[in-house]
Amino acid sequence: MKTLGYVISIAAAVALAAVANVAQAATATLKDTTGIIVGTVDLEPSPHGVLLKVTLTGLPPGEHAFHLHQTAACVPPFTSAGGHFNPFGKEHGLLNPKGPHAGDLPNIVMPDGDELNINIFANLVTLEPGKKNSLFDSDGTAIVIHVGPDDYTTDPTGSAGKRIACGVIVP
Ligand code: ZN
Repeated sequence: MKTLGYVISIAAAVALAAVANVAQAATATLKDTTGIIVGTVDLEPSPHGVLLKVTLTGLPPGEHAFHLHQTAACVPPFTSAGGHFNPFGKEHGLLNPKGPHAGDLPNIVMPDGDELNINIFANLVTLEPGKKNSLFDSDGTAIVIHVGPDDYTTDPTGSAGKRIACGVIVP
């Protein structure tokens, strides 16, 4: 009986966790338009947003826009990922008084001929299912890197140009 009670408590705890929609860690594997893997992003839940631990290699050196896009679909040329993740209906841009999109993040700078390791904090999103700004909304989300830098103001794209890498965020 004691064992049975223990098993039932575990089942109850699992059920409670499901009801509470507890945020779980997530990951994304980024590929370029030819299908070559160019990096990984590990996403960790925080009480204040989501911490992104980014490793990238093989992308052109220089400054690139780095965004969370609204749809979990990475079919080259990656327009399938839709626009920037924008659950609060804002304009684009970290420097735009009417912004930003929740998916707007600072530019990354790829070193010449070397790997980039960087941590980025996305404070306007969550990994908790059921929240308006959850990266696990009905159609999911994707991480997209652009050929050029985000100018942080031009709505709705930041004038960042073509999409050169994309990865769907998965649990
Ligand atoms: Zn944006």
